[in-house]
Amino acid sequence: MASELQTDCCVVGCGPAGAMLGLMLARQGVNVTVLEKHDDFLRDFRGDDISPATIEVLDELGLARDFLALNPKRIQAVEAHTPGGTIVLADLRRVRTSFPFFAVIPQWDFLDFVTREASREPNFRLLLGTQATELIADRNRTQGVRCRSGAAEFEVRAHLTVGADGRFSRVREHARLPLVVTAAPIDLLWFRLPKTRQAAQDAISIHLGGGHAMARIDRGSYWQVACMLTKGSAKEVEQAGITAFRDTAARCMPDLARAIAELRSWDQLSVLSVQTNRLRRWYGPGLMCIGDAAHAMSPIGGAGINLAIGDAVALASRLAAPLQRGEVPVRALAAVQRERAWQVHFMQSLQAPLTKAYLLAADSDPGRLTSFVQRAAPKLANLPGSLGLRSRVTALGLRKAHVAAAARRYPAPTVSPGDQRTVMRQASPGTSSPMTGSPGISPASSNPPEV
Ligand SMILES: Cc1cc2nc3c(=O)[nH]c(=O)nc-3n(C[C@H](O)[C@H](O)[C@H](O)COP(=O)(O)OP(=O)(O)OC[C@H]3O[C@@H](n4cnc5c(N)ncnc54)[C@H](O)[C@@H]3O)c2cc1C
Repeated sequence: MASELQTDCCVVGCGPAGAMLGLMLARQGVNVTVLEKHDDFLRDFRGDDISPATIEVLDELGLARDFLALNPKRIQAVEAHTPGGTIVLADLRRVRTSFPFFAVIPQWDFLDFVTREASREPNFRLLLGTQATELIADRNRTQGVRCRSGAAEFEVRAHLTVGADGRFSRVREHARLPLVVTAAPIDLLWFRLPKTRQAAQDAISIHLGGGHAMARIDRGSYWQVACMLTKGSAKEVEQAGITAFRDTAARCMPDLARAIAELRSWDQLSVLSVQTNRLRRWYGPGLMCIGDAAHAMSPIGGAGINLAIGDAVALASRLAAPLQRGEVPVRALAAVQRERAWQVHFMQSLQAPLTKAYLLAADSDPGRLTSFVQRAAPKLANLPGSLGLRSRVTALGLRKAHVAAAARRYPAPTVSPGDQRTVMRQASPGTSSPMTGSPGISPASSNPPEV
């Protein structure tokens, strides 16, 4: 067993929640070590749309200008095309915010950006290629984690350990925190279509009909498409064959028929299993879970990243000062859950009926009642007043998260294009030791995509 590393806060997982938490704590003078099991952030099947609420958080951190300089695609509306007509689900231009758009950018670019900013802080440390394997507990209190990096094993000891390790969180599993499964699980078929001559689209479009519910987003050079299916039916769709799938997809999105014809084999599609859940209690002595580790979100409604980052803002604001004194009051952790959980419950309780409504609207063989609902839904959804409310919740959530004054920076520091990320990759055997903190820049690698 190798040596150990001491830090104030050990964050397991460098997704949106972990990266932002690391940045905000480091800015407030807390020594923070973030562990990420992959060597880089190059993974597909992640949320790529950064909501106005998150851009506002970046603005308070003095980073919105540099983030927007990365030139994300700006999406201003979400529309559903149903057999009964078009429903504008959200129109961000109606929302009072300085950033009335989703900034669509590959999640790895967002995480690179945040960790590069965090690396400016001397007390921020990111260990890439380092997996937390179990919690260290002493007298009922979490004291850190055991980790593995290549053949090396070591401990990271901390006053506070944060599980920001996503929907399959090992931290929450080891902590035995009680989990509740929420909305009905669904399958997603996820694929890309080439962009031919279609004009650029500044809306996320959801196409319902012909038995399928498909969402598509313009990613500049290609379309990213997600097809939603009831749980377990992906196998049936696959058995029916790619030609049958192409036909239904083309009926669902006739304007993309030519691009859909390019789908020739199932290798071009990925099946993702989605389920949503949440912890009853997000914390224990010396331990807190945030983001998908505390509440796995379905992609429906696109709220996961914003909620994960809101959790990070709340935790950094409430815990930075106690952590500097080496304290982690359980009541402060409970207060973070209280501040955040009702918003999560609300968004999850919207996702469940929304998922059902999509599947109902997509029904290709509706009974009389379903067919009546399909015709009436657009009229009801387009009633005055409701669009404004939906747009606001989609853009900003229920309550805006505000960054603690000590973590804010203004004016924004300028990022020069050649700026290099100064993160550490966990040293592999034979190279410098992570315990001494000798940095090595992470090599670019192409991990297979994971959900
Ligand atoms: C297909 C799909 C599409 C989605 N689309 C959207 C969308 O458009 N908009 C939106 O807002 N949300 C979307 N979501 C949800 C969104 O991606 C998540 O809610 C969000 O990423 C949660 O962030 P997080 O930081 O909590 O967890 P994650 O993003 O899951 O990050 C967790 C990190 O922890 C690392 N990790 C895991 N275990 C360990 C370990 N033991 N040791 C070290 N590191 C570890 C992982 O490698 C990962 O980098 C989508 C989800 C899916 C599956």
